[in-house]
Order: sequence, then structure tokens, then C-alpha cells
Amino acid sequence: MSYFRENIDKMTPYVPGAQPAPGERIIKLNTNENPYPPSPAAVQAMRDLDPDLLRRYPDPMARRFCQAISDVLEVPVDRVLPGNGSDDILVMISRACLQPGKKVAFAIPTFEFYEVQANIENATCVPIDCDPIEAAQRLADADADVTFVASPNSPTGVLTPIDVLDDLAGRLTGLLVIDEAYADFSSENALTLAAEHDNVIILRTLSKGYSLAGLRMGFAVSQPAILDGLLKTKAIYNVDAVACAAATAAILDQDHKNANARKVIASREALGDELAELGFTFPASEANFLLVRPPIGNAAEIYEALKARGILVRYFQQNAILADKLRITIGTDDQNAALVAALKEIMA
Ligand SMILES: *Cc1c(COP(=O)(O)O)cnc(C)c1O
Repeated sequence: MSYFRENIDKMTPYVPGAQPAPGERIIKLNTNENPYPPSPAAVQAMRDLDPDLLRRYPDPMARRFCQAISDVLEVPVDRVLPGNGSDDILVMISRACLQPGKKVAFAIPTFEFYEVQANIENATCVPIDCDPIEAAQRLADADADVTFVASPNSPTGVLTPIDVLDDLAGRLTGLLVIDEAYADFSSENALTLAAEHDNVIILRTLSKGYSLAGLRMGFAVSQPAILDGLLKTKAIYNVDAVACAAATAAILDQDHKNANARKVIASREALGDELAELGFTFPASEANFLLVRPPIGNAAEIYEALKARGILVRYFQQNAILADKLRITIGTDDQNAALVAALKEIMA
């Protein structure tokens, strides 16, 4: 006997990357956090918060935040929907669009949360296993009710070119969700497609580029008709007053975000060169991590050996296509040097 729906009992839950206890001395390269601090303006906005804003309920639509997005990204404010992280918006999309019999398509490997959400709604998953260009053809053929493309993708770091996404959006009858969690580190983004197609949802987050993973802020950009539907499934006060104030300040400080992104990109290229020299192979990444395949030894052993040396990377234990790979977040140059030194020791 169970209190839960049958599909909930049967499904495998999402397993987040480990978060060490505060104060634990560890080099943390496992969950794609930004190694640099958030904008000082965001921290100041939290310090300066009028306590009356804590007494009252927050603005359910986080209008100050949406206006800042509108100003900075040059999109009309009625095309922005705030989320408690972009995970929150993925949940809204699934609740609003999925049910048994509906189809959800995505290329694999990708962010496992898409499949988890589909399983919660007991929808049917169509996973497609190939490179992004070929995947786009097959995603178009699958013509699911909801198609998810993370671009740059996690855990591969590979960008799907805008013209490919543009073509895919035009061929799909269902929704195309373009998850741009890593857009701040990539050479191009697909934001304009949200205005050009009536079936595209762009997702962004402040967790990676803006160094605010702990704050929980993200947003969607789409057509008002789509956002109206999603809004019906939104938790009433999904975005709190503190997060709204800090995130607004962070969005308005583009210089800070862009300067950190440039540092991360430079370190990504430098670390890539060092790992390639050690014989690691990996696809070209446009994100803040590399998905590497070690030349010798197995990924699980290297993961454990790094962990024993106080360096945490991501090993996707239950995922067969990722069994021989590690996802390594780009850290500061000191952290990356410690990683390379440890790998040399382990492989010697
Ligand atoms: C990190 C990440 C997200 C979620 O970010 P939030 O912290 O919930 O805003 C969404 N999609 C992908 C592909 C990610 O890597």
C-alpha cells in the first residue's frame, strides 16, 4: 500500500550534486557554481532591505526584477516570467503542459531534471542519443508536445547553433524550451527566437553567470499567451522579497557579470589545454565546465581519488552514457591548478 501515485512510486528522483557542509575545506568543482563572488550591488541590496518588505508578502510578479530584465535584455516586460530558479519554471511548464499520453523529447545526455518532471506528470519521454545537429533533425521528427534543448547543454557544454534552433522551432507543432542556463559563458544565444516564434520559451538563471545559485532566481522569456498559461501553475509567491531585491541589483550590474564570465572563459580555455596535454578528451565547451574522458583509469576511480584529495567533481553514477566521464566546473586559476596537479599525481 502506498500514499503516492503509481508513477511517483516507480520514478527515480533527481540527485543533486553534493553540497559540502559550510566551512568544509574542499575545492568544489561539481555543480557549475561561479567561482567568483556576486555583484557587490546585490549584496548591498540585501543589507539595505527595508524590514517592512519582510513583513509584507512579496510582489507575486516580481515586477522590479522583470523591469530590470526588460531594460537590460531589451524585451517587453510582459514577456518575462520570474522563477524561483529556472527549475521552478521547468516545474510550471511540466504542470501546465504534461499529462499521461503527452510526449516530451530531449537529446541525451542532458539535464536530468527534464525527465524527472516528465515522470512526475506521467508523460512519455523520447530520449534521442546523438550530437546536437543530428539530434535537432530527430527532435523535429519526434514532434513532441514539449521539446527541451539545453544550449549550451549540460553536461556536455555543447552549444546548438541559433539557426538550428530557429529551424527546429519552425518545424515543431509543440513547445520548444531552450534552456540557456549557461548563456552568459557562450558565444551566442537564442533570445530573439522567443519573439520570432509563438512556441519558444527561453529559460535563464542567475545561478551560474551571476554567481547567485544560493539566491534562487531565474526567469522565462516567451510570448504573453504562453506565459499566461504557465502563470496558472505558478506558486503564488514563488519569488521572495530578498531574492527580488538582490537579483534586480545583480541584473543591473552587467559589467560585474561580464567581467567574471570573461575570466571563467579564459580559465576554461587554459584548463582545456592542460587537460588535453594529459590525454583527456572532451567536446568544445561554451559553458563553465568541461565533460572529460580520462585517457587511463576509470572515471569513477579518478572521481574518488580527487575526492580523497579534497577536490569534488561530478560523476553521474546512474547514467550509463556518462559512466566513463567526469564533469569538471571551471574554478579559479588556483583551483584549476590544484586539480591538474592532483590529476597528474593520480595518473602517475
Ligand atoms: C543549473 C541549471 C539549471 C537550473 O538552474 P537554477 O539554479 O534552478 O536556476 C537549469 N538548467 C540547466 C541545464 C542547468 O545546468
